[in-house]
Amino acid sequence: TVHVDPGQRPVAPAGITAPGEDWSLKVDRLGKVFGGSRVSSEVVAARDISFDVAPGEALGVIGESGSGKSTVMRCIIGDELESTGAVYIGAVGAGRANLLGWAPPLRRRLRTNILSVVYQDPAMGLNLRISAGGNIADALIAAGWRSYHQIRQRAAELLDRVEVPLSRMDDVVGQFSGGMRQRVQIAKALATDPQVLLLDEPTTGLDASVAAGVLDLLRELLAERELAVVVVSHDFSVISALTDRAVVMKEGRIVETGLTDQLFANPHHPYTQQLVAAAR
Ligand code: ADP
Ligand code: MG
Repeated sequence: TVHVDPGQRPVAPAGITAPGEDWSLKVDRLGKVFGGSRVSSEVVAARDISFDVAPGEALGVIGESGSGKSTVMRCIIGDELESTGAVYIGAVGAGRANLLGWAPPLRRRLRTNILSVVYQDPAMGLNLRISAGGNIADALIAAGWRSYHQIRQRAAELLDRVEVPLSRMDDVVGQFSGGMRQRVQIAKALATDPQVLLLDEPTTGLDASVAAGVLDLLRELLAERELAVVVVSHDFSVISALTDRAVVMKEGRIVETGLTDQLFANPHHPYTQQLVAAAR
């Protein structure tokens, strides 16, 4: 590696890490097209999406509903398998190969301890018919944990950390409030100490005071860990609370990138200006 004097460190354009710099997730010209059959017209949900995220950094993806944010997340996590471009995980065990070329079983294995996601809808990330502890145990068992006592202990620690009362550890998650479900989903996503965490509208749909509590929790959790995080939201206040840098998506494309504070204070693209106005 080349020694670079911190004072002379080249400034990379926002959204692109300087060559040789550390990154945990790199998305390179990702594209996704839906439909295009005789019965449906083509929807270009994502085109030419590129960004990367360093360890300990949180990147925001902001755009209005339908702009393609979830599609990008789903392509990264492997919920969508047919996409173009490349996604690299710069983590031990992932080998920096393009994940988009991996077979589905291998992609699923990454989700056990390298890549985690928190969906807007807790039912996407949790089994609502089993207990909070059981949901966390599922993630741990998938990652190779075998000791009942260690699994119980880890689940209890995590539930405690996300402020779910331990008395509820054995209660079925379907009986929990929306905010509590989301806390359990976050605990499950963090259970195996992933290196990359994707949050897709983690507080959307919750009552304002509950959303604020979950946002505070996420802010604390991200500060405690060296995670690379991608936060997707239509809401600039969520992106501002959690991220350092952000990309702005409109109709499947990135229209502006920058430091979150600067995007918020001084948006250039008219579309970004609209999103900022909506959050003020
Ligand atoms: P966002 O998360 O920003 O609200 P999405 O990624 O969910 O946006 O959607 C982007 C576009 O892709 C929208 O036009 C949406 O209708 C379309 N889309 C998403 N999923 C599918 C699908 N499974 N089939 C067809 N079109 C889809
Ligand atoms: Mg979405």
